[in-house]
Amino acid sequence: MVIETYNAEETYALGEKLGMEATEGKVYTLLGDLGVGKTVFTQGMAKGLGIEGPVSSPTFTIVQEYDEGRLPFYHFDVYRIGDVEEMDEIGFEDYVYGEGVSLIEWANLIEEILPEHYTQITIEKDLEKGFDYRRITIEEV
Ligand code: ADP
Ligand code: MG
Repeated sequence: MVIETYNAEETYALGEKLGMEATEGKVYTLLGDLGVGKTVFTQGMAKGLGIEGPVSSPTFTIVQEYDEGRLPFYHFDVYRIGDVEEMDEIGFEDYVYGEGVSLIEWANLIEEILPEHYTQITIEKDLEKGFDYRRITIEEV
């Protein structure tokens, strides 16, 4: 499925919709270059899960957990991962096979340890269609 957005609010709203629809144990991967809107999307998803507090990128940790919503929300940013073994150390499997909703930014860096099935979200720019245009592809893997 491909969704086109023309401003940050539309990307936020798409994240919010997916957050409202998310069920226990669901895993989402989020791919896209820097500045494409991954944080905007993530903030929408958190809102859709009923999380009111601020959600930013986990800068000093690989994962940030939010427990105040409808379901636990595990927000991963694996951009700075050196080795997939670091994921074992933080208990990756406990999160991903746990009851919460996982969203993994830069999941392509840890492809070999992803679960068998997940929902892959890719955000891309297309400057020919305008500076704020984004093509968001959602696929079941
Ligand atoms: P990332 O986390 O992928 O590095 P951010 O979400 O931090 O990116 O930043 C995306 C930037 O792009 C924001 O400044 C946002 O306002 C802007 N933007 C413009 N158009 C869009 C759009 N259609 N969807 C998402 N963000 C957009
Ligand atoms: Mg970001």
